[in-house]
Amino acid sequence: MTAQEIKEKFDALIPAPKCELDYKSPYQLLIAVILSAQCTDKRVNMVTKEMFKKYDTPEKVASLAQEELEEIIHSCGFYHNKAKNILAMTKDVIEKYNGQVPSTMEELVSLAGVGRKTANVVIGEAFGGEAIAVDTHVLRVSNRLALAKTSDPFKCEQALMKFFPSKYWSKIHLQMVLFGRYYCKSQKPLCKGCPFFDICTYEDKNKML
Ligand code: SF4
Repeated sequence: MTAQEIKEKFDALIPAPKCELDYKSPYQLLIAVILSAQCTDKRVNMVTKEMFKKYDTPEKVASLAQEELEEIIHSCGFYHNKAKNILAMTKDVIEKYNGQVPSTMEELVSLAGVGRKTANVVIGEAFGGEAIAVDTHVLRVSNRLALAKTSDPFKCEQALMKFFPSKYWSKIHLQMVLFGRYYCKSQKPLCKGCPFFDICTYEDKNKML
């Protein structure tokens, strides 16, 4: 299947994909992405809804002691490390970038606790750029569809960027996240009627019918 054919199938299945994290600024999205590790977007949105009522800017978050932030984000899990990362990232945003989240990959990954995946989400989502963030869903779907045969997120990102024209990157990324989350799930994927059934390399696909 060509990139165009795959794109058309994703468009038919998920015509208007949207990021499921709530945010009102690139900084808020950064926090939401950090909190979303090993946590559902729904839970993150519940926590940030309360947090951003009082602490919605780098300056306000920087005023929090680590223990105070830990209490606020506690239910997202791994709260100790997440609070530490959020405060370190916030300090860098204030000190290196005058309180404004930067928009390039190089600058974003210079922020403490921000890796390539998070940077790509922010570039694609908050700055309207074209980027492919490889999370667990994108990695699984890419492998099952044989778009990338690797467990390395960076190699997967490079393969997808080579396969799809750059103008599709951000939309395809969101479609692959949602496809992986709701259709091509890790356990018990919904293979019956899947538009990619013929090209899929998942060995148990026939057992899922
Ligand atoms: S056939 Fe099943 S495993 Fe393969 S892509 Fe579709 S949902 Fe995923």
